[in-house]
Amino acid sequence: MSADPHCIFCKIVARTIPSRVVYEDEEILAFHDIHPSAPVHFLIVPKRHIASMAHLGPDDEALLGRMMALAPRLALEQGCRPYPDGGFRIVLNTGEDGGQEVHHLHLHVMGGPRPWLKG
Ligand code: AMP
Ligand code: ZN
Repeated sequence: MSADPHCIFCKIVARTIPSRVVYEDEEILAFHDIHPSAPVHFLIVPKRHIASMAHLGPDDEALLGRMMALAPRLALEQGCRPYPDGGFRIVLNTGEDGGQEVHHLHLHVMGGPRPWLKG
């Protein structure tokens, strides 16, 4: 499994820095965002270091699909109310103009009662 020794999310995957884990399987880790923008705010990341959406290859389609498909289940488990009154928002920032600060692909899953910090 490829890891970037300077990448904070690779270190979270390797458990060399702590996080509050929400979900784990062979390919994917989900953990709470350290600065939540909503009552529920966690991140879903591939364990393998993929720097951004711009770095995805055809072999990664299933992985990204699995990450997306996990969101509704984990959102409910973390306290989001069910659709349609509840629900959640997925954000995937890519590159500097896209607002990406950590260059290890991650989905933000945000939910819970409004108002939220961002939007
Ligand atoms: P982005 O701007 O999309 O790259 O978002 C990066 C997110 O990672 C931000 O929401 C940060 O609060 C979050 N973050 C940074 N460091 C950590 C950490 N050690 N544990 C959990 N979340 C983190
Ligand atoms: Zn990484």
